[in-house]
Amino acid sequence: MNTSKKITIAVDGFAACGKSTLAKALAKELNYAYVDSGAMYRAVTLYFLDNNIDLDDKEAVQKALDEQIYIEFRNIDGNNHTFLNGIDVEEEIRSFRVSDFVSPVATVSAVRRTLVKIQQAIGKNGGIAMDGRDIGTVVFKDAELKLFLTASIEERTNRRLQELQSKNIQDFTAEAVAENLKTRDHIDSTRADSPLMQAEDAIEIDNSLLTPEEQLAYTLELAKDLIAEKKKQATV
Ligand code: C5P
Repeated sequence: MNTSKKITIAVDGFAACGKSTLAKALAKELNYAYVDSGAMYRAVTLYFLDNNIDLDDKEAVQKALDEQIYIEFRNIDGNNHTFLNGIDVEEEIRSFRVSDFVSPVATVSAVRRTLVKIQQAIGKNGGIAMDGRDIGTVVFKDAELKLFLTASIEERTNRRLQELQSKNIQDFTAEAVAENLKTRDHIDSTRADSPLMQAEDAIEIDNSLLTPEEQLAYTLELAKDLIAEKKKQATV
């Protein structure tokens, strides 16, 4: 239970709904930490691919998680970069090779157990905005602000295409991007262990027709009200 005056913000939703853009912007405005939990699943996936770890080989999976995988985030020129065993893998974890395999990896309970534990440790004192699929339902069930983002598949495909282009990642077509988003959403929503779903107390936002600025202004107000409430409670 977070007893500090800072709140916890959980941002969940389907692939390419702008979760990380929103969580990052909220964290910046509030001077909170930001954590991209999807990047952690992607880093584990990259390790499994590079080291031919078979998902059915429980012993190899557990050994990799316990002894061979070390993930950290470092800020480089104001941008969040994911490091796997000391190497900057920020670009590689966004590649199609990883995007195509990450959802099957995220169905593995041992992987989820390990990453959820790390995420909970990072956020134990609040003052954090984390985006993912199970943040409001599993990782931070007590989060004061839970947001669940949705958007049409057309809008999401366009956004992901623009993001990939801005990063100079060229190995894709629009069809392949849409297919990847749909497949991941399906696997993420139907897996047995902590499937993607809206928490009962989450606020749903369909941002198909909202600009990032409009969405930020609305959610920042919600966050500020909750922070004021929390401070008031702490002083009575
Ligand atoms: O957020 P992003 O789209 O980068 O996440 C990549 C994948 O990681 C998701 O499609 C999902 O399979 C997995 N994931 C998850 N739980 C989270 C965050 C991501 O299962 N909290």
